[in-house]
Amino acid sequence: MKSRSEYPDVLLHINGRWRSADDGRTLDVENPADHGTLGTVAHAGLSDLETAVNAAHQGFCVWRTVSPFERSRIMRRAAGNLRDRSEKIATLMTLEEGKPLDEARAEVMAGADIIDWFAEESRRSYGRIVPARSVAVTQLVSKEPVGPVAAFTPWNFPINQAVRKISGALAAGCSIILKGPEETPASPAELVRAFVDAGLPDGALNLVYGTPSMISDFLIAHPLIRKISFTGSTAVGKELAALAGRHMKRTTMELGGHAPVIVLEDADIDLAVASMSAAKFRNAGQICVAPTRFLVEKAVYGQFLEKFVQVAETIRPGNGLEKGSTMGPLANRRRVEAMENFIADAIEHGAELNAGGSRIGNAGNFFEPTVMSNIPITARAMNEEPFGPLALINVVSDLASALEEANRLDYGLAAYGFTRSAASSAKLATGLRTGMVSINHYGLALPETPFGGVQDSGNGTEGGAEALEAYLNTKFVTQMHS
Ligand code: NAD
Repeated sequence: MKSRSEYPDVLLHINGRWRSADDGRTLDVENPADHGTLGTVAHAGLSDLETAVNAAHQGFCVWRTVSPFERSRIMRRAAGNLRDRSEKIATLMTLEEGKPLDEARAEVMAGADIIDWFAEESRRSYGRIVPARSVAVTQLVSKEPVGPVAAFTPWNFPINQAVRKISGALAAGCSIILKGPEETPASPAELVRAFVDAGLPDGALNLVYGTPSMISDFLIAHPLIRKISFTGSTAVGKELAALAGRHMKRTTMELGGHAPVIVLEDADIDLAVASMSAAKFRNAGQICVAPTRFLVEKAVYGQFLEKFVQVAETIRPGNGLEKGSTMGPLANRRRVEAMENFIADAIEHGAELNAGGSRIGNAGNFFEPTVMSNIPITARAMNEEPFGPLALINVVSDLASALEEANRLDYGLAAYGFTRSAASSAKLATGLRTGMVSINHYGLALPETPFGGVQDSGNGTEGGAEALEAYLNTKFVTQMHS
């Protein structure tokens, strides 16, 4: 029986139609706040996927010929639809993912801003003319859409992860098949509806759910699919990138992180605590750029730890739909188990537990905001992405040793630094080996700024002008005028 009447049974969207799977198969969607069943999501089989690829191919043939001016208008209408429907969509997101309603609202509204930004950028996919060696020759560099895209997005930001890929692909003139997150399917389906209702041609945007590995094996290998974009764990990203490599498909990989936060003794400690605790516990820490390894200089270590613990203790975990809850449940049962294992392992290695450390009750996936200190680098949490409400705070002797520890892992997504010194800021900016560095504030994930990592955190960017490039091929034309 459904635990919430307002939650829909989510369908596939293929070739302009909302429809069940050919074989009628569905999966249940669980409410992370009480483990009740919210509804179902259609589970695509191979015949649905084949139909989706053919639709994306046809959709691409049409959409690529729509002028950037008109594409931009349709996308702006989609952004308007999303804003108009934000309250309903945010409620669905809180029900299925758990985050507090205010966070869900902010995600939906930010999604509309991302669509608007890509809509504007689509009109600026300029080429260039390269001066030739002869007056009789013209050399032209132009940009063309890569073709139908297969995109895979996770459950932690059901709209935000999907909207970047959909908007980038459509702005460039590509069609797209989105494999949305089976555990949080309703809010991304509403995102797709906002686009469809804005007047996209059939097949330009398709939505499927099902068994992730079956869908990725099929779509990545399919000759009509020309580009792969994935957001999720490093382990899965490496598998998908390897498969894409075998079929010579372009990829964008937005993978895991283990963000270091370097706090130097000349930093504004209150500012560092306020901005980093908010970033740590937002979405219950299930964020790829969440601050994780705090590396604090000795002179301010005690003060920083004390203030951080105080903030953690003011957070009120609860059902995201209830006023006053400032942190929702973890999005799925796997994360509760993962948190328990990370914390037990760190304690076994000799770490101190300063706040939290346990799940709350057993109905729903609630977990205490947790702070640990003096954690040996051999503990699992210091090496694997915790992806939960766990802050790891260690002391460092100076900036050089902080940078060494920050760059120790193969991850390279986001990093943070706090200092009042211009010289130290410059050393942080150049010394941190990550795709993004944020100094003296949390300033990541705006539509107009690059978003992406290096090394094990993936490649490519999902924000800024570079994000459109990911969906464009460069064509060179040289012409002799006889
Ligand atoms: P997971 O590794 O099983 O899955 C991560 C995501 O990839 C999910 O959305 C899943 O549906 C998808 N996926 C898994 N196998 C796939 C396949 N073969 N083809 C296509 N998609 C596939 O782990 P999980 O338990 O869902 O999440 C745990 C870990 O994933 C976290 O610890 C975190 O490191 C990572 N994660 C990262 C992000 C991010 O924003 N970068 C988001 C969600 C999860």
